[in-house]
Amino acid sequence: MLGTSTPSGTLCFGRRTLTRKEDVQADSELEKPLESFRSNGFFFKVGAKGLFAGTVIGQARVVRRLKRLVERQRVPHALLFVGAEGTGSVAAALEFARIFHCERGQSDACGACRGCHKTALFNHPDFSILFPFSSRLKEEEERGALLEVVENPYGYRLPGESVTHPVDQIRALQKQFAYGTYEGAWRTAVILHANKMRPEAANALLKTLEEPPDQSVMILTAPNLEGLLPTIVSRCQFVKFPALSKQDISKVLQERMELEEDRSDWIARASSGSFRKALEMATMDVDDFQGRAYRFLDALLWGEEARTYAALEQLAGDREDAFRVLQGAEIWLREVLFYHQGMGDFSGREDIERLASAFDLEHVTKTVAKIESLREMNFRNVNLLTGFISLWRQVRRPVGQVVV
Ligand SMILES: [Zn+2]
Repeated sequence: MLGTSTPSGTLCFGRRTLTRKEDVQADSELEKPLESFRSNGFFFKVGAKGLFAGTVIGQARVVRRLKRLVERQRVPHALLFVGAEGTGSVAAALEFARIFHCERGQSDACGACRGCHKTALFNHPDFSILFPFSSRLKEEEERGALLEVVENPYGYRLPGESVTHPVDQIRALQKQFAYGTYEGAWRTAVILHANKMRPEAANALLKTLEEPPDQSVMILTAPNLEGLLPTIVSRCQFVKFPALSKQDISKVLQERMELEEDRSDWIARASSGSFRKALEMATMDVDDFQGRAYRFLDALLWGEEARTYAALEQLAGDREDAFRVLQGAEIWLREVLFYHQGMGDFSGREDIERLASAFDLEHVTKTVAKIESLREMNFRNVNLLTGFISLWRQVRRPVGQVVV
C-alpha cells in the first residue's frame, strides 16, 4: 500500500522540489578557454559534424530545412520558431544564428573558430539574445542567465509568468540593427519567448521587421502563436518544431547523461516529446515520482473524502507539481491499459493488478483522456481544483462511489 498520511492527518502525495541551478555563472568561468567551458556544459561539444549535430536533439527535418536555407542563400530576414518547451526551438534558434558568425562560412557553425567561440560565450558584438527578464535582475545576473540559456537551451530557467520583454531592450536592438555590424558581415538576434511582448514592444520590433537591413537575421521563438501580433507572425518565415520522438529522447539520455536503457526508455515514454521534461525526470527519484502518482490515483479511488479533497486543494496550488503528478498518473494508467490489452509482462506486479481491478478497459481509456485534457488545461490558466474534482468524480463513479 503506497498511500500515506502526514502526522497532522492530512493525506498528501509527497512533495519534492527539483534542485535547479541557482548560481549565476561566476565571472571567472567566462574567462575559461572554450574547451573547458564546453566540457562543463551539457550540450556544447565539438564534433566533426558541427554544432547542429551536437546540440539540437532530433528534429532532422527542421535542421535539414534550415541548412538548406543557408546553402541556397535564401535566408529570410525573420524566422519564427514555434514549438512546445523542450522540443528544441530555442536550441535551434541559437545554433542557426551562430552559423552567420562562424568564420568558416558553412551551413553549420564549426564550433572551433573565433566567431563560434564568441557566440558560445555570448560575447559577439553582432549576436544578440533577448530574453524576458525581471526588471529586478542586475546586469551581471542577466548575463549569467543568458549564458545558462546558451549552455543548456533545453533546461534553463523559464521566465516567470508575468515577465515581459522590456520595450527599451527592443528599441536598443532596433538601433543596433540600424547601425550595422562591428565585426563580421552579419547581424543576428534571437528573441526568446517572443510571445512575452506587450504591444508597445511588439510595435517597436515591427519597425525593424518591416525594414530589415541587408545581411541581418532575426529569429523569434515561442511555444505557440498565442500572444503574438499577427503583423509580426506574417513577417516571419514559420518553422514548426514537433514533439521529439521517444527514440531521440532515449538515445540522448543514454549517450549524454549515461542513463541505463530501461530508465531512459521509461523517461522518453513519459516526457511527451519534451526534452525539458525528460531532463527534469532524469534528475528525479523515479520511485518517488511513481509513488506519488500512485498515491494520487489511490486517493481518487479509495481515499477518505475530506482528506482527499484537502490533498487535491493543496496540489492544485502548485501547478508545476500538479502537472508532474498528473503526468505520473497517466503513465500508471497507460500501464493498466497495456495490462488489459495483454501487452507486456505484468507478472508479480501487484500495483498494476490492484489498479486494473478498479479500472476496466473503458474506464481507464476515459480516465487517460480526462487526464490529457487536464494537462492541457494546466498550460492555460484554468482553475485546476475544479478540474481535479471533475477527474475525481469520473474516477469514482464506476466504483460505485459519488463524491462531493
Ligand atoms: Zn566557426
